[in-house]
Amino acid sequence: MNPDPHTFPSDAPEKIPPVPPGSTESTGAENDAQTVQDMRFMRRALALAQEAAEEDEVPVGAVIVRDGCILAAARNTRETSRCATHHAEILAIEEACRKLGGWRLPGCTLYVTLEPCPMCAGAAVNARIERVVFGARDPRAGACGSVLDICALPLNHRFETTGGVCAEECRSILTDYFRGKRKKPVHDTRDPVSTTDLPAEASPSAM
Ligand SMILES: [Zn+2]
Repeated sequence: MNPDPHTFPSDAPEKIPPVPPGSTESTGAENDAQTVQDMRFMRRALALAQEAAEEDEVPVGAVIVRDGCILAAARNTRETSRCATHHAEILAIEEACRKLGGWRLPGCTLYVTLEPCPMCAGAAVNARIERVVFGARDPRAGACGSVLDICALPLNHRFETTGGVCAEECRSILTDYFRGKRKKPVHDTRDPVSTTDLPAEASPSAM
């Protein structure tokens, strides 16, 4: 019996929310230049997510790209830094602002392995990010179409969204990480709340 309506087996078809206007969902079938570029930068974000996992952080990585070059790269450091805002996207946005010398990031694309939460999607709006590309959907905290769609709100800036890029790898790195956590001894000093901030399919309660 599984009473939690948010959970579903990791091998079940993912419930994909309706794609909002201005957004696209990668089918994995496209082979145009942008898709190739998206996959290339998402793989870089995945490598950062892997580094996070090795430091016992929830594995999420992000890069910010402008004119085909990586401007900033970061991984989630919430546990290490003991800071609620140290999601990969926030750290990448901060680094990109430092590099460009201002709070606006025009012409920039944010690649992130997991659908941004409301805080990070809000930061992307505030930084005037042009496009957000994410891998796995986050049915419990995603703000790009899952729990809410920040681009459907009447805010002063909207970014283009593409979801589902390298989705399987992005989801696997999370499920592998939490599967490993479940096998560890119970004496884990990490904030237990952190293990609930996950895609439902990656949550310990879902496995
Ligand atoms: Zn976030």
